[in-house]
Parts: sequence; structure tokens; C-alpha cells
Amino acid sequence: MTTALSAPTAAPAPARTRLWIPQRVLVTRSAQEHPHTAEILRRCEAAGVDDVELLRNDRITGVRGESERETYARAKSALAVVTSPASSRLLDPIPPSADWRVDLARGCPAHCQYCYLAGSLSGPPMTRVYGDLEEILAGLDAYVGHGTITSTNADRAGEGTTFEASCYTDPLGIEHVTGSLSAAIRHVGTHDFGGPVQLRATTKFAAVDGLLDLPHGGRTRLRFSVGPESVVGRFEGGTDPVATRIEALATVARAGYPVGLTIAPIMPVGDWRTAYGDLLGRVAAALEGIDGLDLTAECITHRFTPGSKETLESWYPRTRLEMDPEQRRTKRGRFGAVKHVYPDDVMADLREHVTSELAERLPGARVLYWT
Ligand code: SF4
Repeated sequence: MTTALSAPTAAPAPARTRLWIPQRVLVTRSAQEHPHTAEILRRCEAAGVDDVELLRNDRITGVRGESERETYARAKSALAVVTSPASSRLLDPIPPSADWRVDLARGCPAHCQYCYLAGSLSGPPMTRVYGDLEEILAGLDAYVGHGTITSTNADRAGEGTTFEASCYTDPLGIEHVTGSLSAAIRHVGTHDFGGPVQLRATTKFAAVDGLLDLPHGGRTRLRFSVGPESVVGRFEGGTDPVATRIEALATVARAGYPVGLTIAPIMPVGDWRTAYGDLLGRVAAALEGIDGLDLTAECITHRFTPGSKETLESWYPRTRLEMDPEQRRTKRGRFGAVKHVYPDDVMADLREHVTSELAERLPGARVLYWT
């Protein structure tokens, strides 16, 4: 099916970015020994956080409330500064995004009703940022030249060894109180790795001013998650509006970063054909005329697992997000894990429409994958 291009409707005036301020910051004893923890505390103080607790051990307590709802609210309003678990410093491949997953933090303060983390992180959804960032970044050298995902893909091998930093957090959403993303960008941009590398991060936030003057060396691809209002407005609580994300995308592209769109989660809701075309038209208008633009697109349809559905329904009991296994096709992933994805005909319809809109409205964008 081909789609006639319609002029994008006027974009609403961008709203201001939202900055999350944790009500409480807990710092474990082990984390207190690391220099990056001092930077996190400096940023928290500058942001106006006045409840900072330096723990005498490494146990985080006092997050559980008397109800599920209270536990959720307490966890989402707290930031823990911890050291990374040894297991997270042994990097795993993360298909289809990158050769390796590198974690700067686990957890996110936003309230997306389909949150990708719901099925993978256990316990109260508190954000834990890693104070031992220097060690985490020093560990990347050993993986350079050993990628098996993008490095072995003929279309993507030119990216070098790729490291994805947003699997378990939204690194820009907490950057103003952590500084971890800018430290990682600076490290990857200036360190001699002995081979080409790319750091990758994706976000639903837009406060990019602190990233613009970093020595990124063109080695970090910043991607912005976008979707139509029928998805973002209904399901992405506590994030920045799409208009500001698009503006941020254009701003970092002008600062020389390779950039990308994470079109996710793609859902066939409302008048989705018009909505996705309009969205991509707004992106094209924002990026027009940017010299040397290096733009990619990643397309991710909505999916859920039995575990993520259970967690999300406990966090958001009144959600109107469709998570009905009867309306989905069951897909088995690695090790037999069950995922509920759209049926083949719906998937084909979505794919045909969104990729043809991309080709027409953003012909310079390289589509990295559809899933
Ligand atoms: S921004 Fe990402 S990590 Fe944060 S709540 Fe939303 S989906 Fe989850």
C-alpha cells in the first residue's frame, strides 16, 4: 500500500522539559568510596535535593510501603547510589540494538504504562545509579573488536563495537542528578580503544544542553523515542512531550552527534496511519537543513510477556493499554521465553505503513531494524 503524503499539521509549541527531582537519595557505604558518587551528590544538591542519607552498609531499606501503590510511589521518588553488581560488569550481547549492553543505572523515574523494564527488573521500581562508573567504563576496552551483533551485520559493521546504555534505564531522564551519561560520552569520545566504538543511548527526555559541548568525537549516537500523541499522551507519564524530544534531536544533531529515532512502541491505536505520517513529517521539518546529518531509525512494535503484564497491571491497575494474549501472536525467544506480539497481518500492515512513511518523509534515515 502506498500512502499519499499529507502536510504535517502544525506542531504544538514545545513545552518545557521536566526534570525529575528525587525526594530522597540513599548512598550505600560501598558507593561512597567512588569519585563519581561525589559528582552525583553535587548534582543532587544543585537540583535542590535535601534528603540525602549516607548509609553505613550496603542495604537499601524503607522502600516498601503498606500497599503496592505506596511501595511504587516511594520507589519512584527515590534515587539510590550503589555499586554495580559484578554480574552487570560482564557485558551481554543485546540484539538487535548493539554488540554489548552497558549499564550506567537500573530503573527510571518515569511512569510508562508499557515500561520495558517491568519484565526484567525485580523488586520495587527504584532508580539505582552506579557510583563505580570509572570501573564500568574502564571495562569496555576488553570488549572492543569482539562484538557479535552489529559488528557481524554487513550494514552496521561500520559503527564499530557498539555499546547500548539504555537497556535498563533512561540515561537522559536522570542525567541532571547523575552526570553518568555525559561522563560516558566524554570517555567514549576521548579514550583510545584501539578500534572503532559507538556508545548508544535512547531517551524519552529532552534536557540536552549539558551534552552539547562534550568531546563526543562522533562516537555516541543519541536516539529519541517518538510516537504519536495517541501513544505518548496516554501511556508515557512523567516523560517529556514529543515536541521537545524532536527539538532536542535537532539540537544534538546540530552539535555533531549521530542521531536516531526510536519509534516505539508502535501501536495500531486510533487513526494510526495519519498519526505516524504526521509524526515523521514533524521530525523531517525539524531536521531540515542540518549539515552532515547522520540519522537512523529503529522500529519496535508493542509487545509484552506474562511477567511484564502482571507487573504493569499491579503498577497501573486502571491502564487502558491492550495486553490481551488472545489478541496477540505468541513468540518464543531465547531459552523459550514467551512474548506476545501483534498477529502477522497487523504486524505487516504496521511495518508497511511506517517504513514507507519513513522512506518518503526521511529518505536519508537508515532503518536499522524492525521488531
Ligand atoms: S522512560 Fe523507558 S524506562 Fe522509563 S518508565 Fe518509560 S519505558 Fe520505562
